[in-house]
Amino acid sequence: MHEATLAANVLKIVSRAAAGKENRVARITVSVGELAGVMPAALIFAFNALKKETPLDRADLILIKEPVTACCDDCGTDYQPGPFPYHCPACGSRSFRITGGEEVRVKSMELKKEI
Ligand SMILES: [Zn+2]
Repeated sequence: MHEATLAANVLKIVSRAAAGKENRVARITVSVGELAGVMPAALIFAFNALKKETPLDRADLILIKEPVTACCDDCGTDYQPGPFPYHCPACGSRSFRITGGEEVRVKSMELKKEI
């Protein structure tokens, strides 16, 4: 269900951005944070099912994985944590906040002239 809602949102965002443009959307790139809890295959499946009745019916969805980033609470170092438990590579602290890798974002769309 989560993925279907996301796919619908992606279609909505891109339809709005592409409205009035003469060219057709050929490709949509979406970044998916590793912590977003999204199954890529399910998202693509939902997208392909939902796009059928829209002007985006020939658009391909490309997913890129966005790594988790964290910021150390003790020394302020930004880092990409490995597997749990996270610890700061600079000072070894286990106190951190997540600064990236939780969102799903539409990065870009590619337009192609209709032939
Ligand atoms: Zn640190």
